[in-house]
Amino acid sequence: MRKTLTVCNKCDSLNNVDIEKSNSQKPVCGQCHSILKMYGAVSEVNEKNFWRILKKAEKPVVVDFWASWCGPCKVYGPTFEEASTKTDKAIFLKVSTEQSPELSQKLNILGIPATVVFKEGVEVTRQSGALSLESLLNLANTSY
Ligand SMILES: [Zn+2]
Repeated sequence: MRKTLTVCNKCDSLNNVDIEKSNSQKPVCGQCHSILKMYGAVSEVNEKNFWRILKKAEKPVVVDFWASWCGPCKVYGPTFEEASTKTDKAIFLKVSTEQSPELSQKLNILGIPATVVFKEGVEVTRQSGALSLESLLNLANTSY
């Protein structure tokens, strides 16, 4: 099973999800059985759940910082989703800079879209602007 970590929107439980399942059928929360909202294998998280996943993650975490007013972010979204279903070497998260302004400030996100990779809770690299599927997969498949 190719797994990724996500958080349930209803009960806040961390869930291990089969990436193929998240892509083809709606995965449900192991705790409360609500449908887990995912985009491909991407989970959208708030600041609290961002840190929880970072702490639990046994592989690199690739994060897309975005905003609803940002045109290039919208173009980038589907590429990010596609990448998430093509590799299980990393966990893919989306953070809205509008909904989590404090987190974005802490991490010094100056321009969006920004793709930041964390390993064992620490930032290892970041790229600004929309990336191609190929460079995104390279980022995800690098051993940091
Ligand atoms: Zn739940």
